[in-house]
This record gives sequence, C-alpha cells and structure tokens, in this order.
Amino acid sequence: MSLKETPIIIPQSMRAWVLFGPDDVRLVSKPVPRPGPAEVLVRIGAAAICGTDLEVLRHGRPGSIDGELPFGRGHVIGHEYAGTIAAVGPDVDEVQVGARVAVEIHAGCGRCQRCREGMYTSCLNYGSRRKGHCANGFTTDGGFAEYAVNHINTVYPIPDAMPFEEATLAVTAGTALYGLDVLGGLVAGATLLVIGPGPIGLMAVACGHALGAEVILAGTRPRRLELGRALGARHAVAVREQSLPAEVERITDGAGVDLVMECSGAPTALHEAVHAVKRGGRVCLAAFPHEAVLFDAAHVARNNIYLYGIRGEGNRAVGRAVALMAQGKISGAPLITHRLSLDALPVALETAEKRIGDAVKVVVVP
Ligand SMILES: [Zn+2]
Ligand SMILES: [Zn+2]
Repeated sequence: MSLKETPIIIPQSMRAWVLFGPDDVRLVSKPVPRPGPAEVLVRIGAAAICGTDLEVLRHGRPGSIDGELPFGRGHVIGHEYAGTIAAVGPDVDEVQVGARVAVEIHAGCGRCQRCREGMYTSCLNYGSRRKGHCANGFTTDGGFAEYAVNHINTVYPIPDAMPFEEATLAVTAGTALYGLDVLGGLVAGATLLVIGPGPIGLMAVACGHALGAEVILAGTRPRRLELGRALGARHAVAVREQSLPAEVERITDGAGVDLVMECSGAPTALHEAVHAVKRGGRVCLAAFPHEAVLFDAAHVARNNIYLYGIRGEGNRAVGRAVALMAQGKISGAPLITHRLSLDALPVALETAEKRIGDAVKVVVVP
C-alpha cells in the first residue's frame, strides 16, 4: 500500500495545552485544525520541552500575536515536535499523508527581506498573523497537542527507523548547525570551542564532531560534560575548577581556537570566548544573557575577531540536521532523559526547569 492509500482517521476534537495567562496553561478540548493552502496537518508523535517554552509560559515572549503577548488568545504552546502527516491542504503535493516528519519552528512570513534571504527566524513581520507570519508554539499554535498545522516549508521527512522523540531534537541540532553555517561552515580540521552544555551546546558538539572539527566543551556540570564527551568532544573543561583561557591555551599549544559557539548565556562567556579564539577567529552567540555583558571590544578589533549572533534555526539548517541524524552521524537520543504523557505537561515542564533527575530533554507523548 502506498502512503497515499494509508487511511488516517482524524477526529473532530483534540487535547491541547492552551496558554491562558502568565504561568497558566490548561489542557482543553479544541477542534482539530484544518490545513489551508501550503499547509499540512501533523498528528503529533512526540513533543520536547525547551527553555523557550518556559519563557513563553511565564513572560509571553518570544510568543507574540499581532504585536501583543499571546496570553488569552487560545494559543497552543510547544515548538519542538515530530509526527505523521495526517492530511494535506489544497494542492499540496510536496509531502504525502502518512509521511513521518520532523518540524522546524519558523515558517516566517515568506514576504519580507529577511525571510527571502533564508533568515526567517529573524522575520521583519515576526508575530504578524495578518502578514502570514508563522512560528508554531510562539506566534501560531504549536505542538503540546494531538495535532498541529504546519507550513510545508517547516516539515522534513524522517526515516521509518527514527523514533519521533529523537526527531524532536531536529530543531535543536538545526540551531547548532545554523550557528556553524554563520561561522562560515568551514569546520573540518578546525578547533571548535563550545561553551555551555545545554541541549544546543551538546548538539553543537555532535554536529562539530560529525563535520570534522576538534571539539572542546566547557561547562559546569560533570554529567553534562560526560555526555558531551560521548557526543564527540575531545576535551572537556570544567569551568568551576579549571580556568577556561588557561585550558584552551594548553590544549591548543597557545594558538587559541578557530571557532567558538557560545551556548551558555553566562555573563562572562563572551569575554572568555573572544580571548579563547585565535586572531581572525569567529565567535557565534547562540544564547541570550539576561543582562548586558562586558567584553574586551578592543581585543576583538585589534585581533580582527568576528562576532555573529543567531536567533534559533534558519536557512533550512533543520533539513541538514535531519540528514545527519538519518545518516547516523549525529543522534539526539542520548539527550532524551525523561518521557511523560501529554496530559502530564505541567510535571514535564517542572522536570525540565528544575532538572529533576538530571533532566536534559523531557519529551511528552500524546
Ligand atoms: Zn526550543
Ligand atoms: Zn518575514
């Protein structure tokens, strides 16, 4: 039987976690949405929790609907999910019903300068539904539900053998790869320092290693550093006990690293990053420090160091992440520490936030 002939029965209503107010998310019954032109309906197989979900839940941003905070608008949260195509909109032939897919968050608006340049995570019409902007879980309905509608540009087929829970890591790996893209993409043979072994940092380790870099991982938690070693870091620096600049100097014989991915958001990380990189090196900032940070700008100018910022995944990097996952070159599986049911989302959020039981990635399954 071909995929098209596989019948998928779609119910009238579904369970979904809707954001009512700050820190107020409730499980409700909602009609199953219908895909419009250039859209598909995804039956969700698994959805992972990310730090940004907690930001949206507490503060609303980066969630935004037509310029306002997303509270009380019937908005479904959750942005890292995977599932099966259950229905397609009119004239959609890019994917078939029954295909298993990973998704990315941002479709963008598709009409602004940045979207047209592949920088759809930095869409100039961010949050404007009127202009067709979509970022599921942030500005349009997301994945803590049984079904979600996705723009066709945000779905990537995955192999049958890849579990949905692992495919939820495609966005995380895609963000790490997008960072390596903006650093110039010349990774093989380079020394890459990753600061911060959170999920994005750990996937930056895995991607850097898969692409041929010699990876140094810096962080505070021994378990995370161990996980980083298992994912391909050749060196791990425990920054509470060791001086990062001294260790980088020792490991690189005084040369410094070629590339840095700053994934910690720690107040001193940028300053350390610019001193760890060699002259003419490149630093990508992938985390969001809560306060303004101090760093040695004269050192950056004097040494022709390049600084880049990224906002999430972009430039179809999620598709490249899925390819590396499908080829077995990277795997999200080691990051998944907890599995709960969709109904237990509040417990799952708490487990992720408080890192209960050394949680790295917590996944909910409808
Ligand atoms: Zn996320
Ligand atoms: Zn746009």
